[in-house]
Amino acid sequence: MANTLGIIKPDGVRRKLVGTILSKIENSGLILRGMKVLHLSKDDAEKFYAVHEGKSFYKSLVEFMSSGPIVVLAIGGHGSIERWRDLMGATDPAKAKYNTIRREYGTSIEKNVVHGSDSPETAKTEISFFFREDEILPKE
Ligand code: UDP
Ligand code: MG
Repeated sequence: MANTLGIIKPDGVRRKLVGTILSKIENSGLILRGMKVLHLSKDDAEKFYAVHEGKSFYKSLVEFMSSGPIVVLAIGGHGSIERWRDLMGATDPAKAKYNTIRREYGTSIEKNVVHGSDSPETAKTEISFFFREDEILPKE
């Protein structure tokens, strides 16, 4: 029953997709346990994506992720990590399944609208990157 971290990336906020994406989360039965709007500094974007440091897309990704406001979400519910990744779709929107967020709204492999943690370990560290414990609703 672990929570996962979701992010609506700068392209999603810029294109006014926040409501649409939150609707998809609510309608899927996932539970919203925390939410913030913020604008990442370049430094924080570098830290958040440190696992990708050195890859060809890293610099551009950091620029993109600090280019405008984002919405960070603590998402709960049974199997939240996998279910949120299923709703998002594959990294490359062109390869993502129909009816996924990335397929519907992504415009490139970089500008793919949303982020989601990929394992229980990363979910834990990524949630604590943005939220204190008392900023997340307790599990019922
Ligand atoms: N990304 C990119 N080019 C690539 C691969 C990834 O610009 O070739 C960006 C994209 O925004 C992606 C993020 O880097 O969401 C993190 O990459 P990861 O492989 O972790 O994909 P994700 O877990 O987001 O599906
Ligand atoms: Mg990833």
